[in-house]
Amino acid sequence: MSDSSSASNFIRAIVQSDLAIGKHGGRVVTRFPPEPNGYLHIGHAKSICLNFGLAQEFGGVCHLRFDDTNPSKENIEYVEAIQEDVHWLGFDWHDKLFYASDYFEALYRYAIALIKKNKAYVDSLSAEEIRRHRGTLTEAGLDSPYRTRSIEENIDLFARMRAGEFPDGTHVLRAKIDMASANINLRDPTLYRIRHVSHHRSGNTWLIYPTYDFAHPLSDAIEGVTHSICTLEFEDHRPLYDWLLDELQTPHHPQQIEFARLNLTHTVMSKRKLLELVEQKQVCGWDDPRLPTLKGLRRRGYTPESIRAFCEHIGVAKRDAIVEMALLEHFIREDLNRRAARAMAVLRPLKVVIENYPDGKVEDLEAVNNPEDPGMGTRQVPFSRVVYIDQDDFREDPPKKFYRLTPGQEVRLRYAYIIKCTGVIKDDRTGEVIEVRCTYDPTTRGGSSQEGRKVKGTLHWVSAAHAVEAEVRLYESLLDPSQDRDASEALLAINPHSLERLARCLVEPSLAAASPGNRYQFERQGYFCVDADSSTDHLIFNRTVALRDTWAKIEKSQTASTS
Ligand code: ATP
Ligand code: MG
Repeated sequence: MSDSSSASNFIRAIVQSDLAIGKHGGRVVTRFPPEPNGYLHIGHAKSICLNFGLAQEFGGVCHLRFDDTNPSKENIEYVEAIQEDVHWLGFDWHDKLFYASDYFEALYRYAIALIKKNKAYVDSLSAEEIRRHRGTLTEAGLDSPYRTRSIEENIDLFARMRAGEFPDGTHVLRAKIDMASANINLRDPTLYRIRHVSHHRSGNTWLIYPTYDFAHPLSDAIEGVTHSICTLEFEDHRPLYDWLLDELQTPHHPQQIEFARLNLTHTVMSKRKLLELVEQKQVCGWDDPRLPTLKGLRRRGYTPESIRAFCEHIGVAKRDAIVEMALLEHFIREDLNRRAARAMAVLRPLKVVIENYPDGKVEDLEAVNNPEDPGMGTRQVPFSRVVYIDQDDFREDPPKKFYRLTPGQEVRLRYAYIIKCTGVIKDDRTGEVIEVRCTYDPTTRGGSSQEGRKVKGTLHWVSAAHAVEAEVRLYESLLDPSQDRDASEALLAINPHSLERLARCLVEPSLAAASPGNRYQFERQGYFCVDADSSTDHLIFNRTVALRDTWAKIEKSQTASTS
């Protein structure tokens, strides 16, 4: 096992010591419990890697359980997408696929059991009145006048709630705990609500639905979960989790453990906000490559390996923190550097005519597919008299240290020849350079040069006669970097530069048959992935990430400042 995969975190330590003392009979059962009300995002990936990872590491199992107790926002499209995403990330639940809705009958019986113990009652206050009775952090709450209903009356009313005799909002079932508890979650929390809504699995069978606080601990207990890992906002619910399982004497009593959720800079993670962006068509769908959804990241070109490595690296902590997007980008670069084939592509083409290269001549030059992996071999790239380079690689009046193409200065065309600029042709009206004239040195084939000859710059290029047209989509962060921290609360302002489409890019001919999902490094530029909508008639590449590694820089400056 590699060092990183066995890196320690406090949850791993809990599981290890539980195993050591034989708690839970030596079993490790975790679960990932998404609510099917949206698509999974990178935050969920952290939870998936943690839960499935622990099960793998300790010879246990991890259940996939749909927490489908809120029918108005849930549907089957999400259920299917979530399964696809968990598989894509590289995890499998085998036959442990569960739905909280399958426990509705069992949960109902548990509710009856609570009523019979005089630990739950039907309250007929309105939602607003219940809120007012709850008290505050500094003041105790007030008992509902219905709190003293008899067990028989409660059983009767609860059965009639189930039978659909009452409209929504007229009654709820509440736990009878303590309206003066310092923990507001213990002030007679609501366990069931009347909701005349049809459910995507149970249809119209149920007209009352359990709350998360009731359904979650009992679902865990029913499944024999040993470690119920959730995010920090449920820490204050843990006493209720334990109270329910103790009162109901469930066959298993899982341990709830909380960890800090993942937050990333410059993006939103809340499913509610993501849904808003999708519904308002501010993005092209749940798989828009700017979104932090797993579908979006996949379309953008992220690999499951890079996301798993990222999740392992950030680890698990008890305190909330915001992780730099640059760190996630660092991991996809690392992965693709090893795996992606190199190619040459010119995003903003500038024509270069090599005056002394014979018209009509074509040479096939050998190019390395991946210098990190000789096993990926080589390919032939055609060269001819007219090539295109990127506009950025030419300056008529160069700034200092500009080692690219400029009048009088030699540069190397990658895998081809050393060329020298002899002049330019400009647009009469705008004065813009529209063509660069060059000569080449025929003795430098392959780009080699004699010792002592100073040629600092190497440019990527494509042959005009052979290049293939393509659209390239460049992405920047989804949100305006200025309104970062409270992005989940603020009105979302999409970064106007988050998507730039370059319609007339030119790529080397070997990419003509590239198909959706293929990933490349465009030399000197970044990693790109063929978009889902790409076809041989209309190639589309998404920039996954630029080559420049801002993270490495940040890290360097951090270590420099701490050492
Ligand atoms: P949202 O607030 O975006 O709707 P949620 O927590 O309600 O998220 P669920 O579908 O309930 O979404 O989440 C399933 C599991 O994923 C839960 O155990 C939850 O704690 C975990 N999870 C959700 N978001 C994050 C995150 N940002 N970081 C880590 N874990 C997360
Ligand atoms: Mg939730």
